Amino acid sequence: MAQDCLFCRIAAHEIDADVIHERESVLAFRDINPQASVHVLVIPKEHIASASELTGEHGRLLAEMFGVMASIARDESLSGGHRIVTNIGPDAGQSVEHLHFHLLGGRALGWPPG
Ligand code: 5GP
Ligand code: ZN
Repeated sequence: MAQDCLFCRIAAHEIDADVIHERESVLAFRDINPQASVHVLVIPKEHIASASELTGEHGRLLAEMFGVMASIARDESLSGGHRIVTNIGPDAGQSVEHLHFHLLGGRALGWPPG
């Protein structure tokens, strides 16, 4: 666990979150400032600073995370589609330096994003 990392502390249940799915290595919880009616963050419990840090060794973890996201999309009835996005670095607006996928849905999502 990284010192002073917000999402490490949420993963350790030191800080409350609206958790909707939990596994040994993965946690999914609702974003505190939702940008769509469904806005879930999916994180590895292990501290990884961003998607830029991923290597082949994370293959199984990533497959599990995408499996969790597919299952959440079904549970949240996002049959019309949804978006999965991860921000990397300041130009993309990454504000928490712990890998997280945003799962967004429940409204029409514009493209290109802002
Ligand atoms: P980023 O800007 O790094 O791509 O995404 C970080 C996300 O974390 C933002 O959408 C923000 O609303 C969310 N967030 C920040 N602090 C908290 C928190 O304490 N709890 C929850 N559930 N979400 C948070
Ligand atoms: Zn962390």
